[in-house]
Amino acid sequence: MADIAIRNLMKTYPGTSEPATKQVSLEVDDGEFMVLLGPSGCGKTTLLRMVAGLDFPDSGSISIGGRDVTYLPPNQRNLSMVFQSYAVFPHRKVRDNIGFGLTMRKMSKAEIAKKVDWAADLLQLSPYLDRFPANLSGGQRQRVAVARAIVVDADVLLMDEPLSNLDALLRLSFRAELKKIVETIGTTTVYVTHDQVEALSLGDRVAVMRVGQIAQLGRPLDVYDSPADTFVGGFIGSPPMNFLDGTVADGRIGFTERASVPAPAQLPAGPVRVGIRAEAIVLGEGTDSLPAVVDVVEPIGSHTLLTVTIGDQVLKVQVPPTTEVHRGDTVTVQFPPGALRLYDPETGLGLE
Ligand code: ATP
Repeated sequence: MADIAIRNLMKTYPGTSEPATKQVSLEVDDGEFMVLLGPSGCGKTTLLRMVAGLDFPDSGSISIGGRDVTYLPPNQRNLSMVFQSYAVFPHRKVRDNIGFGLTMRKMSKAEIAKKVDWAADLLQLSPYLDRFPANLSGGQRQRVAVARAIVVDADVLLMDEPLSNLDALLRLSFRAELKKIVETIGTTTVYVTHDQVEALSLGDRVAVMRVGQIAQLGRPLDVYDSPADTFVGGFIGSPPMNFLDGTVADGRIGFTERASVPAPAQLPAGPVRVGIRAEAIVLGEGTDSLPAVVDVVEPIGSHTLLTVTIGDQVLKVQVPPTTEVHRGDTVTVQFPPGALRLYDPETGLGLE
């Protein structure tokens, strides 16, 4: 068993006033792929480094497989790491780079060769085993780093933005491969990224971080569909979730004098912030449709993205690519009641 239990981790770097992590608690199940997602500076790398043993908390604890490792050095935690920069040894051949951890563990030559061949095969590196890293592409070098990390049968695999130095196309293909590989080996994994698409595509669960705390922890589609607060909704999704300020009165939420929709839940009278995804909005007449003015039309290929205004509020609407609509048109939009998410306009927290 290699579950990870992170309890109340506090870490303030010397010379700074704000903690980099504030009482962070997180359980990662055995074999789970956990993604730490958040904007720059939210503390995800700090958290990962403490799991790795590269940094130590001021208080709190970390255990792996039930063993307290909070203050153990990295080499006593049985974990492997992959970083953003291709940390491969330039003067060693690919074969020796991949086998490095096994040599350190004093495994027999035959056993090392077998394992290196297995990892090279998994990462499509077999033709390059006798090359030096200088003679590989960036993508291939990063494959070497991943192969070296998975070959050692670590309890835990830690990855910090491993795809971010790759170009867009390579990133996309390696992302899918990485997912397959990690599923194949089944190692408990903690993966740091600021890329929400990467997080949703890879994680069994995603921990969305904001200024040193976990704002929401959940399965990718749950986090996408029901953001716990407006920060998460505004960070996840492309475009991010739309937020409209409305006023609750008589069981309806009004956005302008003429535009209102039925409130999907019992709400006290007063202000409310409504969240709705661009693809959930339906264009066309209906019982509770709202008039909107089209400001921008962006054909993306798979769909067209409209920027529209309702009163003085702006929102994005995703429509089929064949939709005939032009800038300046007045259209009507519908908000299916099940797609509305409700937030406190002051705190940004979900009301459901
Ligand atoms: P990024 O995606 O930019 O790497 P991050 O979410 O990984 O960001 P951290 O690197 O964990 O964030 O940083 C969290 C906070 O701690 C930031 O405010 C950062 O400035 C601060 N910090 C990080 N490392 C140090 C350090 N060695 N000394 C002082 N402050 C640090």
